Parts: sequence; C-alpha cells; structure tokens
Amino acid sequence: MLSYRHAFHAGNHADVLKHFVQVQLHLYMNQKDVAYTYIDTHSGAGVYALDSFQATKTGEFDTGIGPLWNATNVPAALQPYLDLVKGMNPSGKMRYYPGSPYVADQMSRLDDRLRLFELHPADVKILNENVRKAEAHKAEQGERARGKRVIIEHGDGFQSLKKLLPPPSRRALVLVDPPYEVKDDYKKVRDALEEALGRFPSGMYAVWYPVLQRMESRQFPDKLKRLPAKEWLNVTLTVSTPGPDGIGLHSSGMFILNPPYTLEPMLRETMPYLVQVLGKDAGARFTIETGTQVTGAASARLVGEGPRAPVGNARRASPLSGKGSLRLPGQSMVREGEEAKPAAKAPAPRRAWRPDGSAQAKPATPGQGESRAPAKRPAGAQPRAAGPRTAGKGGKR
Ligand code: SAM
Repeated sequence: MLSYRHAFHAGNHADVLKHFVQVQLHLYMNQKDVAYTYIDTHSGAGVYALDSFQATKTGEFDTGIGPLWNATNVPAALQPYLDLVKGMNPSGKMRYYPGSPYVADQMSRLDDRLRLFELHPADVKILNENVRKAEAHKAEQGERARGKRVIIEHGDGFQSLKKLLPPPSRRALVLVDPPYEVKDDYKKVRDALEEALGRFPSGMYAVWYPVLQRMESRQFPDKLKRLPAKEWLNVTLTVSTPGPDGIGLHSSGMFILNPPYTLEPMLRETMPYLVQVLGKDAGARFTIETGTQVTGAASARLVGEGPRAPVGNARRASPLSGKGSLRLPGQSMVREGEEAKPAAKAPAPRRAWRPDGSAQAKPATPGQGESRAPAKRPAGAQPRAAGPRTAGKGGKR
C-alpha cells in the first residue's frame, strides 16, 4: 500500500524532532575524519514546497517549523537545524522544507556517501530530480565529489538495508522512517534493525516513530530496547493532548541505537524549548530515556521529562519526580545520576543547496497524492482529557 505522501506532513512537529536530531547525529559523525555512509531506508521526496497543494491542504507545518521560524532565544543546539532550513529559503519567506536526504546532503562531507531508498514511484522521481539539481548546482560552485556520492534506489528500504552493511569505511548513520500506515511496519523496523545490528553492531541507527494509542505503537519502544545494541536513547515530543476523536498526530519519538554520548545532555537543554514553542496545551511534554545492554539484559533510566508525566512505555516512571527509572523484564541494573558530558560544538552546515535563489538548484515540486488516514483510537480506548487550548490540526504525522 503506497498511499502515503510526506508532502502532506512536511515540516510538522514530528519532522522538527526528527530533523533536529538528525542534524545532531551528523554533527557527531563529522567530528571524526573518516568518511561514513548515510543510509535512508525511507527517503521521501527530499525537498518539500510549503506552498504546495499538499502542504497547504493540511497546514501541518503550522505545528512545527511555522512557530519556530521567528522564534527567539533559540538554544544553541537547535540553531544548526534552523540555519539549514533558513539556508534553503534565502528570501526570508518560509517556502521550502528539507526532507531527510536534503538534511543528510547538507550535513555530510564530500567523502561521505548517501544511499537513499524510496518505494513510491512519484516520490523517487522527485527525489532523483532534486538530487540531480543539487549536484548540478554544486558542480557550478566547483564542488565535485569523487565517484557516486549519492545513490538513489527505487526499492524497499527494509529489504535493502542489510546489503549495505557493514559499509566500506565501517562507519554508518542509518535513518529508518517508514509511514507506519500498516501495523506491519513496526515489526519490519524491528526485524530490519535486528539483522542490521547482527551485520554491523557499531552502526548508529535512528528510528522515527509515532506515539499513538494503537498497541503496536505503545509497545514499539520497549521492543527496540531489547535489540542487541550496546546503548539506546529514546526521546519523545508531545505537542498536545489527543482530542476525544483520537484523530491526528500529537506525539512522536526518535529512538537511537548506539547514540552519541553528547545527545542526552543536548536534548535535556533543548527539549524544554521545543515544548514551550510547539506546545499547544497542558498535555505538551517531552521524555528522554537512555539505557545500556548489560550482559544480555538491558538497563534503562528516565533522564528527563517535562513538564508532565511521560507517555507511552515511559508511563511506568515516576510521574512527579521529573526524573525516574524504568526497569524492563530481565533487567539487571538501573543507571542513575550519571554526570552529563558537554554537548559537542556545532559547526555550521557545510554548504548551501538553496532551492529558491535564482543561482540555486530549484527542487521539483512534489506530485499529488493521498494524505495519510488519520489515526484511529482502538475500540474501547478512553481518550485523554482535553487541555485548555485546542490541539493543533495535523494528520497522522
Ligand atoms: N524520511 C523522510 C524525511 O524525513 O523527509 C520522510 C519519509 S516518509 C515518512 C516515508 C516514505 O517511505 C514515503 O515516501 C513512502 O513512499 C516510503 N516508503 C514506504 N514503504 C517503503 C519501503 N518499504 N521502502 C522504501 N520506502 C518506502
């Protein structure tokens, strides 16, 4: 089933969380002078026009990049992400929003490699056009990568991931970001990661997921915690209390296997700001959990939450302390009270692929497509109480 088109959801709060974290992961990878492979199992179209029919139909960017566009007192760690988005809108008008391939292209270096998978025939065509224009623009600027820096494949990212691992340089950053339109996607993510970790245990794997009422979504983080990675980090951002109809995406998470040690302290500093700027009602909050694998059993701790009780699997943590601990079945120990290490200094994105400048590469406009069906509450599930302000509009993500 290929009804999902990301053009309807580009720039929403879930994209902000995902791409902000993605930028930080690239910055960390860039600290070492050895090339890496970025693998995007579900790439989408690469660039999105926020004045397109799809984007304006849902207006989802109003829940994400919209409120951030003119935000002030931005935390330092959020700035590289905002610089990247603003860099593709040199007129100052918010017109284009980057997809994960564009973020990767901007944040990686000339020797790094991008391997992009996309199954939708229309989106893979747009992605190809966007990358071709970007490369032509770079060539005009005198920047030429050796060999095939970016390879796009029209195919199944779940199936293809394994054939790229381990990568030649033994360094990889993998983003797994499926539509989750079908519940099979949750299992496919877990299975693909299990296989990937078997082939390449030291890779950095980042998974975006929706926090929904459906059982597969609620159980998902716990399933990822049991994967055989040495360490994991789970961050969620909730922007509003779900309405009584259960429609819309109010919360999402990024689950990172083998995360940088700099990520947790950086998120602790930045997530309260995102809640403040993107939060719609008293249900707005974030959670951060980390864990390690200890001789075959995982240990976990809740390292940050605010300002309300955690959601999803984190419900078992103390709701009042602002800090708590989680114990999974078979855990042997709980880490708490560790010293946070300082966040890495963030260099500016390497170069500009600016879509709307006359001398810049212009992205192809996304084609027409269906919006994702709104999330349905499972039969019998009770909605959470509505907050004082209405929840923002938005589709499933
Ligand atoms: N990662 C993109 C970004 O952040 O800009 C957004 C990706 S979007 C959420 C998910 C994409 O996965 C859609 O474009 C969809 O067509 C594509 N897709 C769905 N199933 C796929 C599969 N098995 N393999 C590769 N792509 C798939």
